[in-house]
Amino acid sequence: MTHETKLLDQPGPPTTVRWMLFYSLQPILLALVVAYWYVDPGRPETYVVVIVAVQLILGLTEHIVPARPSWNTTLTEKAGNAVLVVLLTTVAGYVGVLYYAVLAEPLSELRAALHLDVWPHEWPLIAQLFLVFFLSEFLWYWMHRAEHRWSLVWRLSGHGAHHSFKRLGALNFGLNHPVEYFFIVLPSAIVELTFGVGYAAAGAAVFSVTQASIAHSNIHLNTRWIGLLFTTNKYHICHHSAVLEESNTNYGCSAIVWDRVFGTFLDKHIDEAGTGPTEPSLWEKFIMPIKDPEDTAIAPNAGS
Ligand SMILES: [Zn+2]
Repeated sequence: MTHETKLLDQPGPPTTVRWMLFYSLQPILLALVVAYWYVDPGRPETYVVVIVAVQLILGLTEHIVPARPSWNTTLTEKAGNAVLVVLLTTVAGYVGVLYYAVLAEPLSELRAALHLDVWPHEWPLIAQLFLVFFLSEFLWYWMHRAEHRWSLVWRLSGHGAHHSFKRLGALNFGLNHPVEYFFIVLPSAIVELTFGVGYAAAGAAVFSVTQASIAHSNIHLNTRWIGLLFTTNKYHICHHSAVLEESNTNYGCSAIVWDRVFGTFLDKHIDEAGTGPTEPSLWEKFIMPIKDPEDTAIAPNAGS
């Protein structure tokens, strides 16, 4: 009996439903999101509509067919996390506005000075979407790797707060320290403003947020083929391991191809998530840019 068969053969919905979700949930959800954006690529409300719809679909699926039943959160915990995600997504929006105000002009001048006016606006929009996506993910890969490599960057970004959860679910995509949004929003802002991308940037944003939600979800999903380029929750949950060696892998939160290229890819089922044996309180998470929890095992300076 394979690992997949064991996990899918549990009480609850019929095995056929589990197999259908296993193979089709991620590709179908991504295709629907891209199709919705493509109908009207400049629609301002698309980003929020996609987040709400994706969270409802993944949240309901996690509740009915959880990969790890012990990771299921109560309705009260889900509501608390949802309020935090709304607040933190608002922070992300303001950071985006700030970056636009500060960076649009200098990066536009840089484009002119360095003759970077090379964006393929004539390409089909979908192809442009994937170009923005993989370029932004390339920058994020190195920023995220730096967060895990250097104590100063780990602290400044408050990235430990995102890793401190012992149980993961789709909502964890948005449970980051408020200061980390200055890091998270930066790669796509640089790509969009340096190359003058246009509508494809909005498509890449909804694709990326859907991927990040799936990557944290507590649902058993297939990794074959789709996991060559795009991350899956198995790979990303491995990055959330409470074991340092497992955590220092799979830095791509939406794409996995850069981990494969730069040698940090790991395909492993982990036993335990979090920064250490216990989950810090909300306050301890908030002060992580100043102080790591006593029992942290995955901070860059842990054990030293
Ligand atoms: Zn990380």
